[in-house]
Amino acid sequence: MPDAKTKCKVGLIGTGFMGRAHAFGFTNACRVFDLPIEAELHSVADINAANAEALARAFGFAKHTADWTDIITDADVDIVSITAPNALHKEMALAAIAAGKHVYCEKPLAPLATDAEEMADAAEAARIKTQVGFNYLCNPMLKLARDMITDGALGEIRGYRGLHAEDFMASPEGTATFRIDPKGGGALADLGSHALATAEFLLGSISDVMGDLATHHSTRTDAKGNVHKIQTDDIGRAFLRFENGASGSIEGNWIATGRKMQHDFEVYGAKGALSFSQERFNELHFFTFDDPSGRQGFRKIEAAPEHAPYGLFCPAPGHQLGFNDLKAIEVAGYVSAINGDAPEPFNFRAGLRIQTLVERIQQSARQGTWLRV
Ligand code: NAD
Repeated sequence: MPDAKTKCKVGLIGTGFMGRAHAFGFTNACRVFDLPIEAELHSVADINAANAEALARAFGFAKHTADWTDIITDADVDIVSITAPNALHKEMALAAIAAGKHVYCEKPLAPLATDAEEMADAAEAARIKTQVGFNYLCNPMLKLARDMITDGALGEIRGYRGLHAEDFMASPEGTATFRIDPKGGGALADLGSHALATAEFLLGSISDVMGDLATHHSTRTDAKGNVHKIQTDDIGRAFLRFENGASGSIEGNWIATGRKMQHDFEVYGAKGALSFSQERFNELHFFTFDDPSGRQGFRKIEAAPEHAPYGLFCPAPGHQLGFNDLKAIEVAGYVSAINGDAPEPFNFRAGLRIQTLVERIQQSARQGTWLRV
């Protein structure tokens, strides 16, 4: 019998969309990857006690509670996963850090960059490991795209177009949730943050931004029918300049009728181009001027075992990864970092960087001028 692995106990806060995704992520990462540490689902908290109990039963958490501070004070918990609304991230993360626990927090890291900075500073001072949920970066096809850009397959990079568009906020009815909080809410912060993270993952640092924010619903109702005045954007756009000399744009849009998950990008180089859509996220399209005239066009590269870690999930090309697999890849990278085998894939300092970009774009939109980041 091989030696039993070190166990690391996970305390999850929140049982909504991302709470389930984290539970899937930890469960699958420990089975798919040969990780040095076995992450065990230990306890789950949700302000809705019945939901905490239901998730505990479904995923095998030993404990459940309606009070998130129970997770913090539980000496057995090593990693705290935060999937509660944005405004709660800072208080929960700082409490977990003070208790010496590693923290995995959903994006955006905090409503304001000043809060995110406090969180990053506290984590670094306590020497705990952190991770922010930017799961789209875990897609092996994005790593392939970055490798092709770095290897020079596209030549000098000139242009970038990125967007994250969905339509779950298209109606003003029943959509006044934590996402429209005047402090840190809005489409740019919620969805544009993903587009910004992908832009810098592929092309490197953004140096200058010129923002534009549009609000199409002046009021929204919540689930109980209460009317809320809206101060946040429904569409946030920015023109970008990158340090590498390329120019481009991103858009975060949650009223994009008909779009369910359009986390897309196009990269244009002097020799070639890439095109990607999250709606078909197991494909990367590549164009090269090296192809003979009359036979040029975007060719489809399908995800395959050559694109690690795809092969750990499936031995056959073209059979495709799913959304929760990206979360498992994110967890695997984080657990390896906790064991000291690799750098943190996207830590609180990286989350602060995205929040800083978001706020700079918002400031630029208010001032109507380009701003240096
Ligand atoms: P959600 O509304 O589905 O879930 C939030 C959960 O937090 C609910 O179960 C709610 O009951 C619980 N909660 C609220 N207050 C609480 C408290 N005081 N204590 C304990 N639990 C509490 O929301 P969601 O879509 O899962 O979003 C949660 C976070 O995840 C947000 O920060 C959001 O931006 C982020 N998110 C990330 C992605 C991604 O792709 N990485 C996708 C969606 C959401």
